[in-house]
Amino acid sequence: MQLYNKLSAKERAELIDKAGKNRLTLSFYQYAKIGNPQVFRDHLFITWNALDVLGRIYVAHEGINGQLSLPADRFNEFKTHLDTITFLKDIRLNIAVGQDNKSFLKLKVKVRNKIVADGLNDDTFDVTNKGVHVGAEQFNNLIEDEKTVLVDMRNHYESEIGHFKNAMTPDVDTFRESLDIIEDDLKTHKEDKNLVMYCTGGIRCEKASAYFKHKGFKNVYQLEGGIIEYTRQVKEDNLENKFLGQNFVFDDRRAERISDDVIANCHQCGNPFDVHTNCANAACHLLFIQCDTCKEAMENCCSNECMEINRLPYEAQKELRKGQGNSNDIFKKGRSKALKFK
Ligand SMILES: [Zn+2]
Ligand SMILES: [Zn+2]
Repeated sequence: MQLYNKLSAKERAELIDKAGKNRLTLSFYQYAKIGNPQVFRDHLFITWNALDVLGRIYVAHEGINGQLSLPADRFNEFKTHLDTITFLKDIRLNIAVGQDNKSFLKLKVKVRNKIVADGLNDDTFDVTNKGVHVGAEQFNNLIEDEKTVLVDMRNHYESEIGHFKNAMTPDVDTFRESLDIIEDDLKTHKEDKNLVMYCTGGIRCEKASAYFKHKGFKNVYQLEGGIIEYTRQVKEDNLENKFLGQNFVFDDRRAERISDDVIANCHQCGNPFDVHTNCANAACHLLFIQCDTCKEAMENCCSNECMEINRLPYEAQKELRKGQGNSNDIFKKGRSKALKFK
């Protein structure tokens, strides 16, 4: 029985084109006690592989976190399968705003220690004592309250291309770092302010809100379903959209445009621009913002050094990379001094 992905991304892309079917991209998560993650993982792989599901799914003793795509005409079968799993019955599925048939090209279901690498020791606080979940309308009202401090629980490369008006956006590379920065900034307001938080799909706030309550914050709120669900509700209920720019997402689409505002700038020339790219030098692969003009002038590289390396023949580049390990992660979140406007 096949338990692992066997096709290359290229082979898969060709199959998707050939099938000519529309695919849906969606995400969901659930904290739940899973006794044997490996067995559960295998079960999901076998069932979902047969449904032509592609994506990145993490399973742990503490629950499941999935981002995936599937043919739209198999959605009902997929939903029916989820409903057979007690803790996934009627779960909210965050359906992506912009659809791209190639958002995922492999099915990877992995067993992890945690479903989010949050750097927290869960034994030190009550993870079930969460903040109050609020929907889009209540969130909109809450963030207009002068007693409210709105914090973005995502990393700098996410919030730089889009965030809520007046949100505090910690300049961090990891979730763990942001917790201390936020606590320190608000240490004298633990009781008199509303701490309102949001992230992409809501999962990071599940732990963050409990953590801040443990740290003594009295009024903690979290945006239910994150920016993805907020956007859906705003559209459906005709509410005012208070999110500016693009929502960074962790698949090959990289971002969903939520409003026409461009709040970022090209890291090389400083002109308004909000689309991330990866440095073309395979040994660097830095995630950064580069406008079309700079992309052409810099040959899609983040620095002159990278441009020089990228011009070398493939074999010579490979020689240079020896012992450095492979960097295929498109979300490498490095920073570089070569980028003037970063
Ligand atoms: Zn530029
Ligand atoms: Zn580079």
